[in-house]
Amino acid sequence: MVLSRPPSDTDVSVHSTFASRYVRSSLPRYRMPESSIPKEAAYQIINDELMLDGNPRLNLASFVTTWMEPECDKLIMASINKNYVDMDEYPVTTELQNRCVNMIAHLFHAPLGESETAVGVGTVGSSEAIMLAGLAFKRRWQNRRKAEGKPFDKPNIITGANVQVCWEKFARYFEVELKEVKLREGYYVMDPEQAVAMVDENTICVAAILGSTLNGEFEDVKLINDLIDRKNKETGWDTPIHVDAASGGFIAPFIYPELEWDFRLPWVKSINVSGHKYGLVYPGIGWCVWRTKEDLPDELIFHINYLGADQPTFTLNFSKGSSQVIAQYYQLIRHGFEGYRNIMENCHENAMVLKEGLEKTGRFNIVSKDQGVPLVAFSLKDSTRHDEFEISDMLRRFGWIVPAYTMPADAQHASGRSSAAPSPSASSSTSTWSCASSTRYPRPRSRHPPCCRRRCPPTPSPWPTGTSTRRRHASSLCLPTRPTA
Ligand SMILES: *Cc1c(COP(=O)(O)O)cnc(C)c1O
Repeated sequence: MVLSRPPSDTDVSVHSTFASRYVRSSLPRYRMPESSIPKEAAYQIINDELMLDGNPRLNLASFVTTWMEPECDKLIMASINKNYVDMDEYPVTTELQNRCVNMIAHLFHAPLGESETAVGVGTVGSSEAIMLAGLAFKRRWQNRRKAEGKPFDKPNIITGANVQVCWEKFARYFEVELKEVKLREGYYVMDPEQAVAMVDENTICVAAILGSTLNGEFEDVKLINDLIDRKNKETGWDTPIHVDAASGGFIAPFIYPELEWDFRLPWVKSINVSGHKYGLVYPGIGWCVWRTKEDLPDELIFHINYLGADQPTFTLNFSKGSSQVIAQYYQLIRHGFEGYRNIMENCHENAMVLKEGLEKTGRFNIVSKDQGVPLVAFSLKDSTRHDEFEISDMLRRFGWIVPAYTMPADAQHASGRSSAAPSPSASSSTSTWSCASSTRYPRPRSRHPPCCRRRCPPTPSPWPTGTSTRRRHASSLCLPTRPTA
């Protein structure tokens, strides 16, 4: 597609940036171009196209870290070319990961002696951590059932209907039935009594969430533990608990130290946390820690030696970057307990200021709780004239990205919530509000902002609309013109 006069063939260096032939013809989207272009042109074209993305610092849609100190940015860039899996080649990076695992395990009160090392692993995020924890539970349950000569083909897992989508993924990919405790109007987390009542001999674990995705609320892990304890004693089963502390794992230890949700409770056998949420690291890092070595079946651990010495690994993928591990270590030693506490306190205070401001308008119901992930989830009291999706759209015009989403079935007519919370990064004095992730974007948007140059129509997705519950960016950001390249 020629956009204007055919460019002349003179030396690229004489053309001004926006008149060279590289910016005057359309960009290929399906096939790799035949010939090369200068690096400056490639940079300019891509950098300009990326300007249409949202601004991460104004993105309140997930709990993920959007700012780190320049010193840490330097460490990240210096290690961006290190493959984490080359442990023999980069032993110090491996050592830093192990230190992080130990620090996090202690933070979660793992029952470790002074000289004992913790059992855990760095992952790409909580999703990978949850797959690993789930696999360990499934394998342990199967081993026990086999030993007892009982069938082991119908494992199930108990969660609330508010679970993050990665649990549904785990269940589908690894063939475990997901038994969801229904929510009800005004109660948006898993009910401990109902959850434990649903446990049967095929239950591989009960997954509790410390920081529900929908409204940041902490589930009552202590009560679940006490109920499970009673049920296990009555039945002779040993149904364990996993805590999905993706967002709350770096909050509770600092601002709710008395809250018992972690390895202080005997039936909690593994915990995951996202390093890239309140762990204060850029996206790409999570952690899974197990209570003891016995909770992680040996046969799930692979030993590789072709990169050098024998290295035990338990991850889903092989290669990955090292930067995030190093950045997590930086945050842990840079801030220390005191620093994390100050940041989390500040996030909490920010959330309270936002909540009070919203309440003062008299127009909103607050759906989040004061104790929980520092975020504010709210709905409109009166949505006869406007709904939460319109508020989200309006805020987007000013650059703010605040998600609107519906609650799961059974709590459905509380539908359409917008949430906002202080970003962990806001601690350093800016007024950035971040967060409140939402897993559900049920309404594809019909209006298209007048963006997009003619040369970047959206690449159509091969998936029919509706296979994803998320609002699809391709349809909300770009003009739906026909592809040309
Ligand atoms: C964010 C989140 C996840 C998924 O974590 P990632 O680190 O994004 O993979 C899982 N569970 C809960 C409760 C979450 O908040």
